[in-house]
Amino acid sequence: MSLPDITARITRACDRAGRSPAEITLIAVSKVQPHERVEAVLAAGHRIFGENRVQEAQGKWPAWKEAYRGVELHLLGPLQSNKVRPAVDLFDAIHSLDRAKLARRIADVAQEAGRCPDLFVQVNTGDETQKAGVAPDEADAFIREVRAMDLPVKGVMCIPPVDEAPSLHFALLAKIAARNGLAGLSMGMSADFGEAIALGATHIRVGSAIFGPRAS
Ligand SMILES: *Cc1c(COP(=O)(O)O)cnc(C)c1O
Repeated sequence: MSLPDITARITRACDRAGRSPAEITLIAVSKVQPHERVEAVLAAGHRIFGENRVQEAQGKWPAWKEAYRGVELHLLGPLQSNKVRPAVDLFDAIHSLDRAKLARRIADVAQEAGRCPDLFVQVNTGDETQKAGVAPDEADAFIREVRAMDLPVKGVMCIPPVDEAPSLHFALLAKIAARNGLAGLSMGMSADFGEAIALGATHIRVGSAIFGPRAS
C-alpha cells in the first residue's frame, strides 16, 4: 500500500457513497515511523499528518515544518494537561479532547498564545473502561460545556473497539455529530476507512496502510 493507492481507494469509497473526495481530509499517521518513510510522503506532496504523542512530535516536526511549507499537524493521542502548551504551539488540531479540565487548560493557553487548534471531542463509543473519551450519553453535555468556553469545537472522534464491527460505532458517532450540529467526523483508520467514508467521515486517520507496519 502507498499514498497513491490510498488516494485511489478514497476516491472509490466516495464514488460508492455519492460523496466528493474533497470532503475527506486524509491524516497520514506518522507516529513511530522511520524518518525516511515520512520524508517520502512529504516529498510526494502530502502535508497533513497525525501524531499520538506531543513529545515524539516535538522531536521531529519543527524541522520538517521548516523544510516543507504548509504542514498541518493533528494530535490523535491522549493529552496531559501539562503538555497543553507545547501541543497548542505545535498542532493545528487536537482529536482527543475528553474532559473539562483539559478544555479549560486549552482555553487558557490558547488565549495566551493567540491561537487555538481545531478541537475534536473524543467519544468512547464502545464504553470501554480502558479507553479515553467521553461516554456516548455524556457527549452532548460535554460538547455544550466546551462550547461555553468559546473553544473551536469542529467535530467528534472515535476509536472503535478492536473486536467489534466498526460501522455501528461510526454510525453512533455520526448521530452525535448531527444532533450537536458538528460538521467534523474523525473516524476510520487503515482497516476501515472505506466504511467510515460511507458513514460520513470527514477526517480519516491512516497510518500503516500508507507507511507500512509500525515497529513496536
Ligand atoms: C495509530 C492510530 C491511527 C492509525 O492507525 P493505522 O491502523 O495504522 O491506520 C489512527 N488513529 C489513532 C488514534 C491512532 O492512534
